[in-house]
Amino acid sequence: MIFRRQYILFALICFWWPASPLCAIHTAAKEFVVVIDAGHGGNDPGAIGKISREKDINLKVALKLGSLIRSNCKDVKVIYTRNKDVFVSLNRRAEIANNAKADLFISIHTNALAKNNTIKGASTWTLGLAKTEANLSVAKRENSVILYEDDYQTTYAGFDPNSSESYIIFEFMQDKYMSQSVRFASIVQQHFKTICRRTDRGVHQGGFLVLKASAMPSVLVELGFISTPEEERYMNSKEGVDNLSRGIYSAFLQYKEEYQIRFASGEYSDSSNQPESVVETTPPVVNHTPVAPSKPAETKPTTEAGPTPKTMSIPQPADDKIIFKVQILASARQLGANHKEFKGLQGVDNYMEDGLYKYTYGASENYNEMVRLRKSLTGKYVGSFIVAFKNGKKMNINAAIAEFKKKNNKQ
Ligand SMILES: [Zn+2]
Repeated sequence: MIFRRQYILFALICFWWPASPLCAIHTAAKEFVVVIDAGHGGNDPGAIGKISREKDINLKVALKLGSLIRSNCKDVKVIYTRNKDVFVSLNRRAEIANNAKADLFISIHTNALAKNNTIKGASTWTLGLAKTEANLSVAKRENSVILYEDDYQTTYAGFDPNSSESYIIFEFMQDKYMSQSVRFASIVQQHFKTICRRTDRGVHQGGFLVLKASAMPSVLVELGFISTPEEERYMNSKEGVDNLSRGIYSAFLQYKEEYQIRFASGEYSDSSNQPESVVETTPPVVNHTPVAPSKPAETKPTTEAGPTPKTMSIPQPADDKIIFKVQILASARQLGANHKEFKGLQGVDNYMEDGLYKYTYGASENYNEMVRLRKSLTGKYVGSFIVAFKNGKKMNINAAIAEFKKKNNKQ
């Protein structure tokens, strides 16, 4: 009975939630763009169950999720990579999201496991190197859809979705959107568990091509196992589709709310939304004072990209000095100073965060200098971005830029 009362209360909250201020509160803010990607389609059925095909489940949940957002969040633009049963290549899906300058990319899939018809639960994935064989096999299965594409070897630069060796490319990551992706993935799992009452199979990393090509926070959701008859029936029922899409929808609301609060307060902790343009100061910044005695970094001409900056100060962290650096790469293992992923850059530094080595290039108190440096590196590292440190600790980039601006306007 208590359970029933809770259920009714929960149903009421769900019913009212769309009308709650969560969506309306920020209608004046910048339009938020979400791309919903129903996995597979057309001649690519995805995983096949006893009574259904993955592509149809994915599409039903994607459309339901999109309609929930469209009807309740007037400040959100919803874009589908497909809204009917058609084949869309993986690169094209990412291209749709990139062209739309989406704020979030949600790819919807259904899991399957050979020789197991009892495993249950939903999982959410972000881009990274799979930590286990089982995780790798999920990425392999989802990436193998490129085999349906003509000329996939050229399009995906010789990537073989079924060869474990191919997945080495996911070892070196642009980590620009990682923290936001992991945050959204965690909320999705939380809501699957508490709202949808699904078995929580957690947040994982995997080498998914579609996520690699998307230049925004992005996740891939595995709704459940089509190979488990009970889950297959559930995912094909109206109740299942409604419940799962509502779980992702409520996670979306929470994520968007968090995003807008951080954005509005200027305390956005992720670097992906920093302006990354030269900050106007009065008088203009002309003095660059390195914290440590200026020591020009060795520069080595390379044939791979444009000129490397001639001098690079390597300041050490000092009291209350903010040091800006350009982050170029993240990796699960430590790389030697001359590793080929550094593309000839000398003096690459690193710090540890979230169990990853994060590699930076250049260092200066002058934010504008790092903006120019980052621009000069775009030929080598498309996804590079600026990070800030104070007393040797990473700090909020927007707060660092604000301090830089304040300090230089005072002079
Ligand atoms: Zn799939």
